[in-house]
Amino acid sequence: MSRRFTLMYIPDSGKQARRIRVSHRFVFTAMLVFLLSTALMGWLIVDYYRQGFDQQHFNQLLVENSEQRQQLKQMGRDLDGLRREMIVLTDADARVRGTLDSSAENSVVQPVAIGGALDTSPADMTELQKQINDLRLAIDLRRESQEEVRDLLNDKQSLSLSTPSGWPTKGWLTSYFGMRPSPYSGRRKMHEGLDIAANTGTPITATADGVVIKSTTESGFGKVVMIDHGYGYRTTFAHNSKLLVKSGTRVKRGDKIAEVGNTGRSTGSHLHYEIHLNGVPINPRKFL
Ligand SMILES: [Zn+2]
Repeated sequence: MSRRFTLMYIPDSGKQARRIRVSHRFVFTAMLVFLLSTALMGWLIVDYYRQGFDQQHFNQLLVENSEQRQQLKQMGRDLDGLRREMIVLTDADARVRGTLDSSAENSVVQPVAIGGALDTSPADMTELQKQINDLRLAIDLRRESQEEVRDLLNDKQSLSLSTPSGWPTKGWLTSYFGMRPSPYSGRRKMHEGLDIAANTGTPITATADGVVIKSTTESGFGKVVMIDHGYGYRTTFAHNSKLLVKSGTRVKRGDKIAEVGNTGRSTGSHLHYEIHLNGVPINPRKFL
């Protein structure tokens, strides 16, 4: 036996009232259907607005994405520009190294080629970052290389300025480097320099940059000047009539240091010129 509700319908106009008897289950079902429909409607409404919002957000993302892709392209182009400059620098570096010939061959830093095709635009930020890192590395190497080249150039220039070169005075060769009979004893003796005959008072100039380490009078060499040039080079100027520098004086190639004379064991006005390399006398003729 089921429980039932009785609904009464009573119109205004004095017509007959109606009675409707409905089951309990029917009421329950009707209420459930009503609640579910309301919930569904509510959900549809919320979903509609949310979709609208998502679409807007999506559109915004599309715009941002397109902008970022443009930026990435631009950065890629900038990067290409930098790479091209690096190639020019690398090329210049290689040419400078070429002129430095063999000295550059022992270099730790070799000219570095910049790898990668030039026209590849970075596909994404990771790629861009990688390309930037590569370029940074290349720049670091280039900087090291340039510093090394500069050092090499400085060394080369310094060595060149410190290597004896040219005639120390105006005159003519009267005695060469090597074994010869001594003008005094007649026995064969090593002549460790060149004799350049010139009038007393003829200027004598330094043949390379250096520091005067001796400017004094000795029994054999008479008034003598010795210059240390570094890199193992020393030059000696003997039999002078006048000394124009003091020990410790810094001289440049071409600076006047003394005047030709006939002091010490000498048989006429001349300059006795010696070059020593690492303490060993070498033939100055090759340096004139
Ligand atoms: Zn001599």
